[in-house]
Amino acid sequence: MKLTDNFTINELTYSVTAAANNIDNRPSVEVIANLKALCENVLQPLRNHLGCPVIVTSGYRSPELNKKIGGKQNSQHLKGQAADFVVPQKNLEDIFSYIKNTLPFDQLLLETGKAGKWIHVSFCSNGYNRRQAVDNYLS
Ligand SMILES: [Zn+2]
Repeated sequence: MKLTDNFTINELTYSVTAAANNIDNRPSVEVIANLKALCENVLQPLRNHLGCPVIVTSGYRSPELNKKIGGKQNSQHLKGQAADFVVPQKNLEDIFSYIKNTLPFDQLLLETGKAGKWIHVSFCSNGYNRRQAVDNYLS
């Protein structure tokens, strides 16, 4: 099922870890609404601007999945409000600046961890968006 032109529920809920460990990562209706808002307000406008694939590496995480990967207890991934992504064809620092200067968001992190570098972005559809941006977040 499509959330927007270039993003599907499947992409925003798929997890290698969930698949490998038989963890149920199906989203609730509320989570789907949050994922859709994230795509409509942030990911799709970014995709339109870049003109190349935005690869979501982690979107929604069920409590069991979040625990398994060692996510924070209050992670916005649990609500479907956040996504981690990479864009192999573009510079992540440039994308970070573009989102920071142009798009709505709650939290924007340029993260570095074991898996390399990626951007974490969140959006609250029914609340205050803090516009908190950190460009050197160590995961
Ligand atoms: Zn994240």
